[in-house]
Amino acid sequence: MNIVLFGPPGAGKGTQAKELAKHYNISHISTGDILRANVRDGTKLGIKAKEYMNKGELVPDEVLIGIIRDRIQQPDCKHGYMLDGYPRTIPQAEALKDILGKVGKPIDVVLNIEVPDKELIGRLSGRRMCSCGESYHMMFNPPLKQGICDVCGGKLYQRDDDKEEVVSQRLEVYAAKTKPLIDYYSNINILVNIDGTGTVESVFRQICDVLDSHQK
Ligand code: ADP
Ligand code: ADP
Ligand code: ZN
Repeated sequence: MNIVLFGPPGAGKGTQAKELAKHYNISHISTGDILRANVRDGTKLGIKAKEYMNKGELVPDEVLIGIIRDRIQQPDCKHGYMLDGYPRTIPQAEALKDILGKVGKPIDVVLNIEVPDKELIGRLSGRRMCSCGESYHMMFNPPLKQGICDVCGGKLYQRDDDKEEVVSQRLEVYAAKTKPLIDYYSNINILVNIDGTGTVESVFRQICDVLDSHQK
């Protein structure tokens, strides 16, 4: 199954994508995680991307298109993929269509996780990350031991772009550049809205119901 997980920053894409990828045995591709790994390793790409990310801006389309073109053709995507954080602009969606057409792996469904802005701000400001990719929330999804990752024992940190000033900029960028993709995918009848306001488990079940009925 080939899935795009769509939604504003803080909607729960990463949280759901990890569980869904395991449950359906498909690859989880998070462009945010790929970019952060490059920033951490100090690659040329990472040095360039960091400037945009820390300001809450999008990294240029051509950079992301290049990343996705390489990643989607890796052998682990053969059984399906779950895109998380891509596409974020119309040109990115157009490029994706081209790439997927060539490799013969079209998108089956775009899941649009809906959460009101006020709740997004609370989720983003309380988010804590681990360098292993796991994410937590200080109140809604706390680790067993404060400040420590359940999975790897690593020390949790707050993303620079989850600080208040940058969060509001990210939500504005989402509204201006990313939200138009809702119409784009709904016009081709592959968009399904998901109520993202429940618990992590209830959102997961909602998504599984949609995906299981698609698979039949
Ligand atoms: P979130 O999960 O909070 O929505 P991500 O981890 O997906 O954030 O992305 C973090 C940052 O990485 C974005 O604010 C942006 O700067 C950059 N980024 C990630 N994916 C893309 C993309 N598809 N296009 C442009 N920039 C991206
Ligand atoms: P995204 O990848 O869309 O930016 P995340 O999955 O990183 O979002 O979730 C953002 C924050 O909200 C994290 O701190 C996460 O633990 C928390 N979170 C995720 N899903 C829920 C939920 N259903 N209810 C409450 N908090 C959630
Ligand atoms: Zn960890």
